[in-house]
Amino acid sequence: MSQGKVQKIVQILRERGVRITPSRRTVVEAIVSANGHVTADEISEAVESKFPEIHLSTVYRTLDMLEDSGIVDHVHLGHGKAVYHLKNEMHRHLVCEKCSMVIEISEDVLAPLLNEVKEKWHFTLKGDHFALLGLCENCSKEFENH
Ligand SMILES: [Zn+2]
Ligand SMILES: [Zn+2]
Ligand SMILES: [Zn+2]
Repeated sequence: MSQGKVQKIVQILRERGVRITPSRRTVVEAIVSANGHVTADEISEAVESKFPEIHLSTVYRTLDMLEDSGIVDHVHLGHGKAVYHLKNEMHRHLVCEKCSMVIEISEDVLAPLLNEVKEKWHFTLKGDHFALLGLCENCSKEFENH
């Protein structure tokens, strides 16, 4: 796990006046070490293995705090639970509906669509809250063969 990354996040939080308790630190560590996407359940398992007395609601409150601070964000990948990821690594998600594979794409890919929707319908699409669903290469091949 990148301790440097954890340290940097802890520092940002301290500057904002957030008290860094061991459980809060463990939540940050769990997200950083997942290096991708983790559910709240997975995060609380990681916290529980170190601090069995910590309640799931504490984990959720910490996640809310981290979201409010702009450090993490959650996204809905298909029909499953929301997953959490670090916000500084901007990307969008393509999720295969059949095998649940997640492909991360650069946020610029969606920019033309977002701009067009905004220009024509004056609607600001939030491209990052839900994944785009579809079929991955393998699954669409299977589909064609049937
Ligand atoms: Zn949501
Ligand atoms: Zn993500
Ligand atoms: Zn697939």
